Amino acid sequence: MGAKAAQLCGLAGVSLPVPAGFALPVLACRSLVEGPSPDLVGQIEAAVASLEAQTGRVFGGKDKPLLLSVRPSVPLGVPNSVEAVLNIGLNDTTVDALARESNDTRFAHECYRRFVQNYAHTVLGDDPAAFEDVLALYKEERGYVSDAELRGSDAKEIASRFKAQFESNNGEPFQENVRQQLMTTLAAMVRVWHAPRAKTQRKIHGASEDAGLALIVQAMVFGNAGEDSGVGRAWSRHPQTGKAEMAGEFLLQGQGPDLVSRLRATVPLQTGGGESLARLLPGAFAALTAGVAALEEKLRDAVEVEFTVEHGHLWFLSVKAGKRSTAASLQIVTDFVRSGVMSEEEALLRIDPLSLDQLLHSTIDPEAKRTVIASGLPASPGAVSGAIIFDAEEARRLAAGGTRVILVRPETLPEDIRGLHAAEGVLTTRGGMTSHAAVIARGMGKPCVSGASALRIDAAAGTLTGPGLALKAGDIITLDGSTGQVLKGEVETRKPELSGNFATLLQWADKHRRMAVRANAETVLDARMARDFGAEGIGLCRTEHMFFEGERLVAIREMILADRERDRRAALATTLPMLRADFVELFEIMAGLPVTLRLLDPPLHEFLPEGAAEIEALARVLDTDLTLLRRRIQDLREQNPMLGHRGVRLLLSYPEIVDMQARAVFEAVAEVAKTTGKPPIPEIMVPLVASRAELDLVKARIDAAALDVQRETGLTFTYRVGTMIELPRAALKAGDIAASAEFFSFGTNDLTQTTFGISRDDSARFIGEYASKGIFPADPFVTLDVEGVGELIHLAVERGRAARPDIHLGICGEHGGDPQSIAFCESEGLDYVSCSPYRVPIARLAAAQAFLRNSR
Ligand code: PEP
Ligand code: MG
Repeated sequence: MGAKAAQLCGLAGVSLPVPAGFALPVLACRSLVEGPSPDLVGQIEAAVASLEAQTGRVFGGKDKPLLLSVRPSVPLGVPNSVEAVLNIGLNDTTVDALARESNDTRFAHECYRRFVQNYAHTVLGDDPAAFEDVLALYKEERGYVSDAELRGSDAKEIASRFKAQFESNNGEPFQENVRQQLMTTLAAMVRVWHAPRAKTQRKIHGASEDAGLALIVQAMVFGNAGEDSGVGRAWSRHPQTGKAEMAGEFLLQGQGPDLVSRLRATVPLQTGGGESLARLLPGAFAALTAGVAALEEKLRDAVEVEFTVEHGHLWFLSVKAGKRSTAASLQIVTDFVRSGVMSEEEALLRIDPLSLDQLLHSTIDPEAKRTVIASGLPASPGAVSGAIIFDAEEARRLAAGGTRVILVRPETLPEDIRGLHAAEGVLTTRGGMTSHAAVIARGMGKPCVSGASALRIDAAAGTLTGPGLALKAGDIITLDGSTGQVLKGEVETRKPELSGNFATLLQWADKHRRMAVRANAETVLDARMARDFGAEGIGLCRTEHMFFEGERLVAIREMILADRERDRRAALATTLPMLRADFVELFEIMAGLPVTLRLLDPPLHEFLPEGAAEIEALARVLDTDLTLLRRRIQDLREQNPMLGHRGVRLLLSYPEIVDMQARAVFEAVAEVAKTTGKPPIPEIMVPLVASRAELDLVKARIDAAALDVQRETGLTFTYRVGTMIELPRAALKAGDIAASAEFFSFGTNDLTQTTFGISRDDSARFIGEYASKGIFPADPFVTLDVEGVGELIHLAVERGRAARPDIHLGICGEHGGDPQSIAFCESEGLDYVSCSPYRVPIARLAAAQAFLRNSR
């Protein structure tokens, strides 16, 4: 029946006044397009007869005519693409009957002309503008300024001109047979729903293209029946703040579409001073207040209703869980818990974990110097800095390598979605607040400035220009998505305020979850942010990121390019103090919480330059022969580096890397122990292991480094050695591997890549097609493929635990911050999830939800 029909049943169930009606379920609607069966026609006839009996009116009657509305009823979460059709049943006969009965010719003929226009648009696809022009022309002829000046005779004449317009548009007269009117309207609405345009809209919003449509047929009630009538919308609690006060708007003398078109000003439901529903129609206001309160009590949620007042009598037309901001959602559930309406557990289950992202955005530091280089629309809040990139695919590639990028485009298209995912923020030179970029960025909680029209993009030349401005790809800019400003360079930002209801909800989440939540972090900034967001340790420190800058990059390049082990050791030795200092800081920030440090993982060529100029510069810095350098770089190239010389394979070829990294960790432990008296317990993790023998060889060197440092410092400390499980073979041989590993961390990025045999860096080109063809329910790099990758994790958990019952288990792939994947981790009994800092609050809530659902 779709959501609206079900909700109307709910309204009737609490004895609130709902206009009599019936629903045509999805299957019946589908059959309407082909031509309804005689049986269906018979059922519709019978249902209309029942409405006639309930209302004491006759459909197409010469007296007391029954008029009908047809409204779409779609599944929850699916965007509606079909307009309602009102006033069905009007023709030259019934309009007179309505005029007589209401003693209001103007009202009757106004309904008639609205119906003619509505019917022409929905059933025959006519452009409504043609009818608007007829009305405008008529008013001009008579010198009328507003609709209020129209009298009965005017309304009658306009209706007749609308009918003439209909005939001229369609080459046939307006349909006078009311039964035909109803049947063609029903079929047309279903056709609109299944048209390519509507399917595309559903696809853009992530809903199924084939989602079904149901239709609701109801007796009309009239908000345009006079001075004591109108139409409105109410929220039981404020949709922006969640405050417990009814909010909404009311339009005197109008029908639903008038409220939507916003051509006339509405009044609030209640205010101190001016006009309001409470003042205009106090009886209807009192009924609305009581009805909304009853609905809240029944649905145990804040509600949004649409209503019509007909001659002072209130009718409810729809009810749903009220649309609201995340801040309002939190206010509402915390109020409900405080007033005893619901438990903390239920409150936790009410909030969509991903929606918390809306509250996590930073703002530009008010003290910081702003050099505004352009302005656009404030399309999605938050402040962020990054490198200008003009191509979505390039943005994705660079972001995967750890670069913070801002996607800069004239406008974005649906195929840019992965680039939008990867970018920190989006800047467009065209498009408004509801442009693709704006909508998608808001959905993702990323800053967006849209329509910065003074800027010119030349993607081929790689330039962004404007008045007095010349930037190129790779230059850093800052977006302030809250004001629409584009700023030069990197600008200091401030973290959001994470107190109040947000903190309360997350405290409840912490009480009701079993799994710990850690963060993937390697910089001081990320680690601090992770702590502020409530991370309980670091689940993955990708140590390679610590080598990507300054002196360290020079040293690691020197190491890579050295031929002899002795030279490699010497180069590595220069990085040791820097790495140790980094580890000390991480241990201090995490103050006793677990910190998992992963040994070097990526193929070495990632540290080397690509462009000729950069290679020449490197030869100068290293004081080495350019030809030799080029050859060495060439030697390091691999056909398929992600499956090549990386991870543990690299550590086995160059054990000196293990020696240096392990030593840096243990020396940091010793240093922290000296200052705090409490040595941290590091977890050293080996990447890309496929067999126990690989791990054993690396572990032996880690143990040796620990012994050396203990001997040198005279200190004893504890540490753990474990491995990533990110290859199918590792999952299968988890029993063996667990004999040497004290912990497993599921690297589901690589595990997804290697299980599917799909490159995580190239999947964007075709994965959307797989999702739209229904081959994948979701992108497996975003939401864990429970059936396949999940089965490997399940095996590894089982086999690992059998070999080592107290083995510590976690996940550190991107899936560790995805609510659905977190639910799977809970069902597998993992000990923790680890995710990027911004995902930590989301993961805390998702872990609580997973635990609560599981224990039910
Ligand atoms: C993984 O593969 O899931 C993982 C966390 O490691 P990385 O993303 O660094 O390969
Ligand atoms: Mg990996």
